[in-house]
Amino acid sequence: MVTAVVGANWGDEGKGKITDVLAERADVVVRFQGGANAGHTIKNHFGKFALHTLPSGVFHPEVTNVIGNGVALSPRKVMEELAELAGRGVPAPRLLISNRAQIVMSYHVLFDTLEEARLAGKSFGSTKSGIAPFYSDKYAKTGIQVSELEDMEALREKVEGILLKKNLLLKYLYGHEELKVEEIMEELMQYKEMLAPYAADTSAFLSRSLKEGKEVLLEGQLGTLKDPDHGIYPMVTSSSTLAGYGAVGAGVPPCAIRKVVTVTKAYSSAVGAGEFVSEIFGEEAEELRRRGGDGGEYGATTGRPRRVGWYDLVASRYGCRLQGTTDVALTVLDVLGYLDEIPVCVAYEIDGEYTEEFPVTTFLQRAKPVYKLLPGWKCDITGIRSYEELPENCRKYVEFIEEHLGYPITYVSNGPGREDIIYKRDKEA
Ligand code: GDP
Repeated sequence: MVTAVVGANWGDEGKGKITDVLAERADVVVRFQGGANAGHTIKNHFGKFALHTLPSGVFHPEVTNVIGNGVALSPRKVMEELAELAGRGVPAPRLLISNRAQIVMSYHVLFDTLEEARLAGKSFGSTKSGIAPFYSDKYAKTGIQVSELEDMEALREKVEGILLKKNLLLKYLYGHEELKVEEIMEELMQYKEMLAPYAADTSAFLSRSLKEGKEVLLEGQLGTLKDPDHGIYPMVTSSSTLAGYGAVGAGVPPCAIRKVVTVTKAYSSAVGAGEFVSEIFGEEAEELRRRGGDGGEYGATTGRPRRVGWYDLVASRYGCRLQGTTDVALTVLDVLGYLDEIPVCVAYEIDGEYTEEFPVTTFLQRAKPVYKLLPGWKCDITGIRSYEELPENCRKYVEFIEEHLGYPITYVSNGPGREDIIYKRDKEA
């Protein structure tokens, strides 16, 4: 059976932590989209890690980790992450990389950086990891698949064609030095060497695994609101963040995905620009940011301070719907214990009208949050392991969210560690 772990919001919901918890019962963990532009933070008995490209199953030695065909693969980043794990005492993980995954080249990073500089104040807030130029090339059919490293001669011809266009842009749009075929071929030779031990037909592997009754976890990056089709376009990422895309980006049948665990944080946070209706500012925001996540709300990849706000039911219900949620994981609930009252955004007011439906970007820009205040619980809930032991107001907060989301909350996370998890419903369900 396949389970997808995905985000309902802007990302940073705590998917890494939930995947790490669920990986205990999984045989395979797959990354199916995105690249090294975002990170998952995982805290366990080995320490605290920010994973950017490696699947979150790498801390479980018996799990096979797969980088799927839908991922923007930065080979050097993968090597760096593997080296970091080894350097910190984590046993070498089992890793397979799809031979259909495409490679993020140094020129993708270069173009990302040059374009952000050119757009200046109107930029998309890219992390300059090359992701947008990478996916542009993939769909323009000028990307480079891992499998193509098998035939370097054919690849050289392809690279010559690619550089012809890239160099025109570099010269005339960006006034930048041109790229040389030799340098790109050298880069590709290095990638060939790095990837050789891991490259495989991963969809065939997954198919065999499923036939053998293995448990497969698909691990999403970012969340629904960053999906290029259903998110806050154009302030979105370049690959689909939806569980539905998991079938494509991993190469498994859609009907094999039986469970979709949608992760949503007990308040809101977002890195980078884009609509965020329940965002808060000033002192109130500073306090939540400082107390938030694990050691403050700062991006796992970029270290940028995250924008923060109150829980947004309109956005999260939409986020859960598009994911096809079967189970919700509500995370970082422990952080809210300092508040007397907790605002929850229950509707948007747009041009004087109330709505509970998440609108398209044009209307979203004019939306104002409508809040309901719920009583706080004013204590530290870390360490609690059963749902019944949570303070009454805390349970009421969880149940209010559950009722208005319309999807069952199965997991409540009350700390960053693997053990900080409360099964609101039967663990084996
Ligand atoms: P992801 O990209 O969705 O995996 O999210 P990130 O890793 O970027 O951000 C989540 C942050 O919250 C990380 O620092 C986690 O260690 C932390 N975290 C996850 N769950 C909890 C929780 O229940 N409580 C607290 N305090 N921190 C958590």
